[in-house]
Amino acid sequence: MSHVNQDLFDRARSIIPGGVNSPVRAFGSVGGTPRFLVEAHGATVVDAEGRDYVDLVASWGPAILGHAHPEVVAAVQEAAARGLSFGASTPSETELAEEIVGRLRAAGPSPLDKVRLVSTGTEATMTAIRLARGATGRDLLVKFAGHYHGHSDSLLAAAGSGLATLALPGSAGVPEAVARQTLVVPYNDEAALEAVFAEHGDSIAAIITEAAPANMGVVPPKPGFNAFIVDLAHRHGALVIIDEVLTGFRVGPAGYWGVSRRDAVDYQPDIFTFGKVVGGGMPLAALGGRAEIMDLLAPLGPVYQAGTLSGNPVAVAAGLTTLRLATDEVYSALDKVADTVSIAASAALTEAGVEHVVQRAGNLFSFVFSAETAHDYAAVQRQESWRYPAFFHSMLDHGVSLPPSVFEAWFVTAAHDEAAVSRILDALPHAARAAAAA
Ligand code: PMP
Repeated sequence: MSHVNQDLFDRARSIIPGGVNSPVRAFGSVGGTPRFLVEAHGATVVDAEGRDYVDLVASWGPAILGHAHPEVVAAVQEAAARGLSFGASTPSETELAEEIVGRLRAAGPSPLDKVRLVSTGTEATMTAIRLARGATGRDLLVKFAGHYHGHSDSLLAAAGSGLATLALPGSAGVPEAVARQTLVVPYNDEAALEAVFAEHGDSIAAIITEAAPANMGVVPPKPGFNAFIVDLAHRHGALVIIDEVLTGFRVGPAGYWGVSRRDAVDYQPDIFTFGKVVGGGMPLAALGGRAEIMDLLAPLGPVYQAGTLSGNPVAVAAGLTTLRLATDEVYSALDKVADTVSIAASAALTEAGVEHVVQRAGNLFSFVFSAETAHDYAAVQRQESWRYPAFFHSMLDHGVSLPPSVFEAWFVTAAHDEAAVSRILDALPHAARAAAAA
């Protein structure tokens, strides 16, 4: 037995809190030793012991083309050779903004006129909220329980994912005065949202919602729910921020908004946030919206936002090349892999007698270990989540790397070819039996 991963983890823990630079990586809810990765190509990641795994994490979303796509790597190398960071405008950042706006316009009449590039999803949502407050002159923010929008103060109430995994209600260090500005509402619950607006409608700056939540596992909006949110908010003079950091350019060429339009659901939010895929695996995110809102940002308007590395040329090269390679064929391939893997996992769980439901939004999916489809955070938390660690570790032992938490989506890539998929399919029956025995 090699102990390289364990040794690396021990060494990391002595110098990095919890041994990790982002909490869920610590295997807190599944136990065991996190794998320290040294390389990733296509659908495969390789750990420090030289073991390879078929990857269903995809860097938590960005790697839609698979890891280290040769054309993306070449574009990054070329950009790096021209200079890592200028702190000045570059032609390519405009091209990326045009690509983002163009993708939504191609899907239908779009409220996305202008885009600003930032470095993380957290920054994108934080800026979107400041912008909504600046635009409306109001303070209150409405978010949904179980939705994650990054780790800025206003957004850490009932925030799913890492917090759900760690069973934390929120975060220490958030001033009560700040927390009080955020109202948390159960997801997919029209009556609860109406009640909040009936009481606080005049003071609400914005509702922020994941386009299709995937940070409490996948919990898609009920048909028409996003349109309902937009209609209700606008009737009360509030704005709507659709957070597509995770779904944007992953579930389709125009994100989940585009998928909804394809299903004939139209809604015109005020601000979108993007991350992950838009940076092609580099630190890059974006927010965008109607021109009159976006022009409130400095230097034109009174809402301040800035960043030394915003629009970084190397990150822009990765994002732009990734988006240009993410054609309709790529999205069809992702849908097909998601079909195959989710159907096979469900069949294996059924065969092993494990009660479960497949939760799905576009090519994103996850499982709840319960008899009923989960429509909100409370339902997700009621599942038999203790079955997941056994399932997860069995998959890992059979060479498949899943997200180390039941509250996360599984991420497929266009590099999941037949060989990769068949390795996943071979592993599933063992994992399902392990979950049954848990
Ligand atoms: N919004 C959503 C929907 C996310 O999934 C995430 C990250 N998982 C964020 C915001 C925050 O992005 P980042 O981790 O880049 O700060």
